Amino acid sequence: MNDGHGRTIDYLRISVIDRCNLRCVYCMPEDGVDAVDHTEILSYEEIIHLVRVFAGLGFRKIKLTGGEPLVRKNVAHLVKEIKRIDGIEQVTITTNGILLADTMKALAEAGIDGINLSLDTLNTEVFQKIARRDSFDKVMEGFKAALKYREIPLKVNCVPMGIEGQNVLEMAELARKYPVHVRYIEMMPIGLGKQFEFCSEESILEGLKERYGEGIPYEESLGNGPGHYYSFPGFQGKIGFISAISHKFCESCNRVRLTSQGYLKSCLQYDIGTDLKKLLRENASEADLREAIEETILRKPIGHQFGSQIGSHAEEHMMAQIGG
Ligand code: SAM
Ligand code: SF4
Repeated sequence: MNDGHGRTIDYLRISVIDRCNLRCVYCMPEDGVDAVDHTEILSYEEIIHLVRVFAGLGFRKIKLTGGEPLVRKNVAHLVKEIKRIDGIEQVTITTNGILLADTMKALAEAGIDGINLSLDTLNTEVFQKIARRDSFDKVMEGFKAALKYREIPLKVNCVPMGIEGQNVLEMAELARKYPVHVRYIEMMPIGLGKQFEFCSEESILEGLKERYGEGIPYEESLGNGPGHYYSFPGFQGKIGFISAISHKFCESCNRVRLTSQGYLKSCLQYDIGTDLKKLLRENASEADLREAIEETILRKPIGHQFGSQIGSHAEEHMMAQIGG
């Protein structure tokens, strides 16, 4: 379906849990987020029910996120059930990778269409500093497990944050050595991300050019998102950039978000949306759910205004609670 600004919205990011087994400094406070009773989190049945309604409205692509989605039991089951829904063409997941080695086989069998692995450094000590956990080796195990499934696209997402020791250029080595795309995600001023500066795409490109030679813009699209890519000589994968602030892409936005507590959010920076869980638990009909979703999408803001005060509808939650 189209939003009020003529954009086709067909991509839903679903947070399946707001808890996480890491505490990345730009995403989660050291003590984690306030524990929500599990009855407040949408059950898999409720998620599946809602995805059917979204699919009926023309949604085709689903991303499972969190918190850390693999912390929730049997996510592969959810993947399998969503894949069975008429109209859904793609189900992908974004994960920190800690539990990926244990779950990759089940995810592959369930038909997962792509894995995004979040990894901000290749240095164990820096990892510990950023993620506040000593789990680098587990993440690399997950990376290697995912690599074994050549037919399932694997992307590594790195958020440059200007922290001492984070060598973001080194991350590109993964795309040189392996058939994976490495993407640099610009830090967004959401939640704890507000405290960090973002490193410019241009400075990273310049550093990569010095190391590897000129990057050639790659015109084809790789996935559902707003990334733009470069090919570097001798690399197996591409290098991508998702720069929400310096290269704003709101005019081509195709997505909305469903939080783990069932709130449908129309834009990352705003709290504007609808409590679908409430409707579901009041036994709303399919037509009512449909109408609520349509109405939320029609009210989707034209774009973010990161860097400006937006008043009463500013999102106050942390990224892990929203589902980044
Ligand atoms: N735990 C999973 C993971 O890390 O992939 C899924 C949830 S996490 C919130 C999703 C993505 O959001 C991660 O790649 C993370 O790096 C990114 N992220 C979190 N806070 C961010 C911020 N302030 N700006 C940009 N990206 C952010
Ligand atoms: Fe957890 Fe992902 Fe947030 Fe890191 S970025 S704290 S892994 S939810």
